Amino acid sequence: MIPYGRQDISEEDISSVVDVLRSDFLTQGPKIPEFENCIKEYCGSQHAVAVNSATSALHLACLSLGLGKGDILWTSPISFVASSNAALYCGASVDFVDIDFDTNNMSISALQKKLVNAKKEGTLPKVVMPVHMGGYSCDMAAIHELSQEFDFKIIEDASHAVGGKYKGKPIGSCEFSHITVFSFHPVKIITTGEGGMALTNDEHLYQKMATLRTHGITRDKTLMHNKHEGDWYYEQLDLGLNYRMTEMQAALGCSQMRRLDNFVSERNKHASFYHNALSGLAVALPVKDSSIYSSYHLFIIKLESQCPAQRRIIFDFMRKNDIGVNVHYIPIHLQPFYKKLNFNKGDFPVAEAYYDSTISIPLYSNISQASLYKVARTLGEAINFANES
Ligand SMILES: *Cc1c(COP(=O)(O)O)cnc(C)c1O
Repeated sequence: MIPYGRQDISEEDISSVVDVLRSDFLTQGPKIPEFENCIKEYCGSQHAVAVNSATSALHLACLSLGLGKGDILWTSPISFVASSNAALYCGASVDFVDIDFDTNNMSISALQKKLVNAKKEGTLPKVVMPVHMGGYSCDMAAIHELSQEFDFKIIEDASHAVGGKYKGKPIGSCEFSHITVFSFHPVKIITTGEGGMALTNDEHLYQKMATLRTHGITRDKTLMHNKHEGDWYYEQLDLGLNYRMTEMQAALGCSQMRRLDNFVSERNKHASFYHNALSGLAVALPVKDSSIYSSYHLFIIKLESQCPAQRRIIFDFMRKNDIGVNVHYIPIHLQPFYKKLNFNKGDFPVAEAYYDSTISIPLYSNISQASLYKVARTLGEAINFANES
């Protein structure tokens, strides 16, 4: 089976992890700050907090912004459930902003309309969390401008987007957001097995997230409430968690970072192949914009028929031919758990139409040329087959 995504691990990656296993620290050692420095320097942000998953990073991001009971977070219904779950962990409530059918990202006009209504009704969100679907940046300048007018904070769920750029700057610069979160799950752009990171330019948010990552405990004398009693002394300042990344994970992350630019340019090259090879098919291909350099975590196609029965036939045909197509994502508001929170079919019609027509086809840095040809050829056959059935 050609998977829809997979990691790219080199001998150098392997020996960097083995070196850590022979060293003094398996956790809380020097590799964590090294990895954090590497990413923040790459992205041009002031601070970075490495954690055990992007889910944890999103949770810490919400906590550091003071999101809690009575507060509201808005995100995109077309995302992984972790985006909205982060708000629920904090006791806040969640609502969604419908997507733009072309970019698959949160729609700026839907966001603006919803903000105007929410202001009238006194239900403005404390946090808005745009998601860079497939590695294609949201219009962050527009979202930032709305945040000034409607007074909300911004967390970028950039789980798909490390290595991508927006208006010439790396995703993660936090120029238009308070916090940006990356995921290092093996299907994402670089991997640490499991892992995530939160970036920010705000010293206070950084301190908060760094402390909450490790039980709310600090060893920093300047933050202590009481007299420092000796070298053993620490203070718990908040109710934190254990969201720490291991040294093995951080070493793998440092090693993978050396190839990040290469991973993303390979992904872009493969995406160009698909753009050419699939241009004659009845599918909408990912949009392009000169101000956005996509990391191409996913190659998302949308069937022009927008017919869920056809999608099913094409999907099954591809899988039968050993092509690990996937669907990203089932709209979050249609999940049984979210329906219990009073969301219903019809609430976000563009997201639902997207869901009916979307398929992600295999794309990863080291996919072979033969596999790319096979995917393109089989997709053509699948669409013909669906038209005939
Ligand atoms: C993968 C992903 C997450 C969660 O990442 P983990 O590191 O697996 O916790 C969150 N949001 C989006 C959009 C993702 O794709």
